[in-house]
Amino acid sequence: MREYTGVTVSEGLVMGPVRRIDRGVSGLGRLIHDRSKERALFEAAVVLAKDELRGLMEQADGDERDMLRFQLVMLDDQALLTEISNYIAAGAGSAAATERAGQIFARRIRDLPDEYLRQRGADVLDVCSRVVEILDGKPRQKLELEQPAILAAESILPSDIISIDRGMVLGIATSKGSAQSHAAIVARTMGIPAVIELGEEFLKHCDGHEAVLDALEGRLILDPDETLQQQVRRQREEMAREKARLAGLRGTPCITRDGVPVSLLANCSEPGGIEQAVAEGAEGVGLLRTEFFLMKGSIPDEEEQYYFYSSCLAAAQGRLVTVRTFDVGADKLVEGMMLPEKNPALGLRGLRFCLERRDLFQDQLCALLRAATKGPMDVMFPMVGGVMDFRMAMDEVEKAKANLRMRGLPFDEDLKFGCMIEVPSAALCAAELAAAGAAFFSIGTNDLIQYTHAVDRMDARLDMYYKADSLAIQRMIAMTARAAREAGIPVCVCGRAAADPKIAPLYVKLGVSSLSMASQSLMDIKEVLLNTDLSEVPSLA
Ligand code: PEP
Ligand code: MG
Repeated sequence: MREYTGVTVSEGLVMGPVRRIDRGVSGLGRLIHDRSKERALFEAAVVLAKDELRGLMEQADGDERDMLRFQLVMLDDQALLTEISNYIAAGAGSAAATERAGQIFARRIRDLPDEYLRQRGADVLDVCSRVVEILDGKPRQKLELEQPAILAAESILPSDIISIDRGMVLGIATSKGSAQSHAAIVARTMGIPAVIELGEEFLKHCDGHEAVLDALEGRLILDPDETLQQQVRRQREEMAREKARLAGLRGTPCITRDGVPVSLLANCSEPGGIEQAVAEGAEGVGLLRTEFFLMKGSIPDEEEQYYFYSSCLAAAQGRLVTVRTFDVGADKLVEGMMLPEKNPALGLRGLRFCLERRDLFQDQLCALLRAATKGPMDVMFPMVGGVMDFRMAMDEVEKAKANLRMRGLPFDEDLKFGCMIEVPSAALCAAELAAAGAAFFSIGTNDLIQYTHAVDRMDARLDMYYKADSLAIQRMIAMTARAAREAGIPVCVCGRAAADPKIAPLYVKLGVSSLSMASQSLMDIKEVLLNTDLSEVPSLA
């Protein structure tokens, strides 16, 4: 037995033979005599690559089709084509120029702070390598597997996965790779266990060997002995039973034993995660985080955001997506964008930051108002302290609408705006917030606990003071829920406590109408609620 450790990007446990994908070596280094011929060769290869992609698109659907369409569009991208032409003009062969430009483009995209856009980096590499292979005289073949296998490669390209019969791929093991790559995301979405960064040694020895891919612990064991094989078989049976049992609850409405309905929603940050959440039974997205756009320093413009939010709505397939406007500050630092603060948790956080940087806020609001024409969407503001904050935010919404009218762009006039309740002052003034027009509340317990109890949520030493079910927190939640009920608006909890089986029933008892959490926890919480009679849940408030 030989064990290699890596990083899990899609969970699961499988056993089977390993099949190494070898892309071989291309003739990138050949001597170039005539630049115009190299350009003509490149152009001919692009025509063939487009034909291949169109052929693949006819057999694909959904996500795969979108991915192939994006790759097709890249072959018309002027910036990419010019870069390749420049390398050819500088003396590179058509294949070398394509490969080099592809790598530079992919790197640029991968540095973007958004997972969805970063995954497109893999698509650029994929489509460029298709052109390179054509130039090398070996158009990409559909990979044929005689038996189900664990695919091994340096890194897996998106089209590697979709060109293979789904049932034939047991798992994916790569020596390099990235958790943000499209292939990793496709693996997660398709439920294929995947471990990356297993190292070069693993690739040398893996082909044709039996292996256990343990994408729970992030490891791969070559040539497992009989004891390990039996142990894996038992563990897989157990996992299958538990998964099937919980999956059986996906279609069951979430209603407590005493008849109180609860909406179970997912916390997400990109379209792939939304698709997964829908597949796992989410009724919608209760919290779409957007600040990661800013957190790596590049500022997304309105168009980029519009595309991103539209993709999120498409992924939700008609279910409501609740988008939170940028929530930066405190532990969510944006390099180069924020001045040092003595007390950042009490500083220019969330909505306060947006009201300081109205240029960024306007771009986001315009993108959201436009995207909202594509499907059901709500928008909420983080770190609202009271009515004044909400009014200022809504003034910005009016400005964004006026701007869109002036530009003649369609947008959703009736888009609803709500408040996150994360600061005690907001909970104490929930009735006034509803009266000021907040269309819903979403209680962010992660922060509400921090601010109510004056405990730094990042400091593990203070855990004993950080209580999701303290009397004070129960009062805050009950107060918010009462104000919501009287105003006839919904109230959700989207902090981590919503996924705690001991806390979720309590919050529902206190009047919360929906809970939003990581999608993996949805069915666990549904099971708890289905077995709960709220009259038996002790509460202090
Ligand atoms: C919260 O505060 O509960 C919340 C969901 O927001 P975040 O954890 O992103 O601050
Ligand atoms: Mg928060």
